[in-house]
Amino acid sequence: MPRAIELINVGHTYMTDSGETHALQSVSLGIAEGEFVGIVGPSGSGKPTLLSLMAGLIKPTTGEIVVFGKRVTGSDGTSAYMLQQDCLLEWRSVLDNALLGLEIMHRLTPASRARTNELLVEYGLADFRHLYPRQLSGGMRQRVALIRTLAAGPSVCLLDEPFSALDYTSRLSLQADVSAILRQAGITCVLVTHDIPEAIALCDRVVVLTNRPGKVKADLPIALSGAIHCPMSRRQAPEFREYFARIWGEMEQSVKAKFA
Ligand code: ADP
Ligand code: MG
Repeated sequence: MPRAIELINVGHTYMTDSGETHALQSVSLGIAEGEFVGIVGPSGSGKPTLLSLMAGLIKPTTGEIVVFGKRVTGSDGTSAYMLQQDCLLEWRSVLDNALLGLEIMHRLTPASRARTNELLVEYGLADFRHLYPRQLSGGMRQRVALIRTLAAGPSVCLLDEPFSALDYTSRLSLQADVSAILRQAGITCVLVTHDIPEAIALCDRVVVLTNRPGKVKADLPIALSGAIHCPMSRRQAPEFREYFARIWGEMEQSVKAKFA
């Protein structure tokens, strides 16, 4: 499988008026095309910083990042974000929100509009296309946000805690949808989450970061028997609890050190 994302010895230090914060140090990671990788770690371990670096929104202080063979020097539309807040515009309809990314990138054409309409049909939102975000549930709003992301045709999707604002049952249902949609599209995904079971249920691999400055503490391939990609069946696999214990084992020391 070709490499989609390569981080080589990446470090990041934020410079502010009050001093320097070493957020990440010597992070090397390779992510294959179509792979779904989870990033977990204690708070302060630099998880969203890692995503911003991959997206080219900030520049690494050391090392380099290569996405599909090209060194990342800025944000060029290869990577899309899915965030905790759906960032839908309340005064635009579902369809107009779904078209927003294309509009901003000046890529709204009859073909891309038709494709967005198809995505709305495919993901059960066609009947809602003329409604406004306030008329939708949290889970449906996130689906619209995902379609807005997919309409722009990204190769990489960076997910920053996209499920954490939802109630538990909506979260399980959206996890299943998002996983199916992104897997089907063959998009390479990096999911930042503080929820260990969520990472195991959705990802092919889970990377554990240490306390600040974040370094790779563990990088575990997740192999669950019987389960393919459906997060709900994966949660029922016999090895699920073992993975939870191993990942928590990798994080426990860092978490304890923070509260010591
Ligand atoms: P996490 O979500 O894993 O806690 P973040 O990437 O949000 O990690 O933050 C890592 C560290 O970098 C934290 O100590 C945070 O305070 C600091 N940090 C994050 N963003 C900025 C910023 N824009 N300016 C200065 N410091 C930042
Ligand atoms: Mg944080």
